[in-house]
Amino acid sequence: MTEQIPELFGSLVFDDRVMKERLSAEVYNSLKKTIDENVRLDDDVADAVAQEMKKWAIEKGATHFTHWFQPLTGVTAEKHDSFIEPSGDGGVIMEFSGKELIKGEPDASSFPSGGLRATFEARGYTAWDPTSYAFIKDNTLCIPTAFCSYSGEALDKKTPLLRSMQAINRQAKRILKLFGTEVKYVRTSVGPEQEYFLIDKEVFEKRRDLVYTGRTLFGAMPPKGQEMDDHYFGVIKPRVKEYMEDLNEELWKLGILAKTEHNEVAPAQHELAPIYSTTNVATDSNQLTMEIMQKVARRHGMICLLHEKPFAGVNGSGKHNNWSMATDTGVNLFSPGETPYENAQFLLFLCAVIQAVDDYQDLLRLSVATAGNDLRLGGDEAPPAIISVFLGDELTAILDAIKDDKPYEGKEKVQMKLGVHSLPRFSRDTTDRNRTSPFAFTGNKFEFRSLGSSNSIACSNIMLNAAVAESLRQYADELEKAEDFETELHELIKRVIKKHERILFNGNGYGEEWVKEATEVRGLSNLKTTADAMPHLLDQKNMDMLMAHKIFTAAEIYSRCDIMLENYCKTVNIEALTMVDMVRKNYLPAIERYLHRLADTTSLMKSVNSEVKCNYEISTMTKLSELTDLIFDTTLCLEDKIKQIKVFESFIARAAFIRDELIPCMDQLRKYVDEAEMLTSQRDWPFPSYGQILFSVY
Ligand code: ADP
Ligand code: MG
Repeated sequence: MTEQIPELFGSLVFDDRVMKERLSAEVYNSLKKTIDENVRLDDDVADAVAQEMKKWAIEKGATHFTHWFQPLTGVTAEKHDSFIEPSGDGGVIMEFSGKELIKGEPDASSFPSGGLRATFEARGYTAWDPTSYAFIKDNTLCIPTAFCSYSGEALDKKTPLLRSMQAINRQAKRILKLFGTEVKYVRTSVGPEQEYFLIDKEVFEKRRDLVYTGRTLFGAMPPKGQEMDDHYFGVIKPRVKEYMEDLNEELWKLGILAKTEHNEVAPAQHELAPIYSTTNVATDSNQLTMEIMQKVARRHGMICLLHEKPFAGVNGSGKHNNWSMATDTGVNLFSPGETPYENAQFLLFLCAVIQAVDDYQDLLRLSVATAGNDLRLGGDEAPPAIISVFLGDELTAILDAIKDDKPYEGKEKVQMKLGVHSLPRFSRDTTDRNRTSPFAFTGNKFEFRSLGSSNSIACSNIMLNAAVAESLRQYADELEKAEDFETELHELIKRVIKKHERILFNGNGYGEEWVKEATEVRGLSNLKTTADAMPHLLDQKNMDMLMAHKIFTAAEIYSRCDIMLENYCKTVNIEALTMVDMVRKNYLPAIERYLHRLADTTSLMKSVNSEVKCNYEISTMTKLSELTDLIFDTTLCLEDKIKQIKVFESFIARAAFIRDELIPCMDQLRKYVDEAEMLTSQRDWPFPSYGQILFSVY
């Protein structure tokens, strides 16, 4: 197996290697120009690429092709067309043209558009993204595409992501030019670490809440949770090991560099990290990874749960978005340089990120906001909903010294003047890694840790790229006019640190004190739920910035806000309906059955010997009977609230009602049912317990 990896790797991807080999030099070069420099693709070139792509795909056994895209629902979509066309003489020929490569017309009416399409055209089209490689999946050639309405409004996550990459490229090149460096392009790279749960398929199928909503809506804590830490340090179980090997192989074929795999904190929880790549490629790869993780799990009789919080009281799953910027020459702009001058450039890019995170905390927060992730953020297992930046002690001390014009008390005393000389060397390794920070500098990249495990990473990277592009634009506007570049650079950096130091925090992000300090002293925002966060997308400052950098149009922003809130409302609504369904059809009848047995036993025993006390039976019966009433009343209340949701016209109002009324009622119902679970015999309990689910794979 191991010897075959080089051959296997990327064998189902029409990547640079394949293109170089199969396309004529002329076609290859002009395609490469499109990929690297965003130059418009010629029709002839597209045709030539399509021909070769088709030949290659058919050789690999493909019979169909599809435009593969990421609608706003968060999952990927594809519509399969056959290569086969009637040849006129009763036979068939394998057809696929440049036109079909470049543009497709899926029946878009079923994808959410937040009212966008209605106002323009009924149909949208998909357009090839040549910067992300085509690949073969299930005998289908998948062509990564953007998805737009006929008037050009983005109906997907890829289009704004590509626009944000262009924005940051534009502004970063202006800055680099000021430092005397001309590059072809600057790109952002991402390596997303993906957490997930693996549970047994048979156990999964017995839990209606897992099947309908991806998470458990009920369940008392098992006697053994994650307190022993034995899972994290433990060996990977044979069944999981086999799964991981199979998964790696599938991912490698698709050119996804899955690299690390280990157990996570919770029982049954694991992590997979790929080697980082260009942001849009990383986004496509992560979508594919999630899909394949689920598919391969089924093959092994297991279910891969990507929900952010499948089990209450047990660590949830997140996704760490490792992010950096690099030039086409391979220089990482967040690597502290070798010379003082490079260090000044590094510090300016560092400032751009600090300012971006401070100015657009709300955008970063809402980029990870979903009903599922709300259950995880701020729960002492994931970063809080408050966004802050961790730099580590050394870098913080350097910034402090610059800010106050004081000598930096590092290994040697140096005056912090950002000139041609005298900038201290600091080590690249920040060893003190703070796991509680939502946004941490980790040596040569930033790690945005607030993402939920099922989030598309597109959303966070759109906001991050846009916000950093905006800081860079401001700096470029100012410095391009500078008469004395070095002095003004120094002043600018000083000013930015002073103005934005409130966002820097190296302490414990899980503590209560931090919430107090962050909100009351520093004035940082604490947007706890999706209902709180999402409406801020419409704040004037946010809309202005996103539109100025041409990431979104106003119509796209409004539609996205609506779609995200609609998703939130739908998700919670389904959960509430599932709870009612389980309570009425299963939990109440089960408790009833057990009560019946207890009552029967009691009267039977008393008829044999009227002296027996039947303490256990009677006290359990009394408590369970009380709980049954509470469960019933709360269910009625929940049913009523579910009906009320529709009264509200706007999704903003609906989401607020769900946050304030529906969710507290759901929590209450769960509490009563979980209490009843502790009192009811396992024989009568209608669903597998937490213990049975979490320890179902061994
Ligand atoms: P940890 O669990 O310690 O955070 P991992 O090694 O599991 O670290 O994951 C780190 C992730 O960061 C990997 O996906 C890796 O490819 C990615 N990464 C490393 N360097 C960069 C970089 N310069 N830009 C973006 N991502 C990076
Ligand atoms: Mg990490």
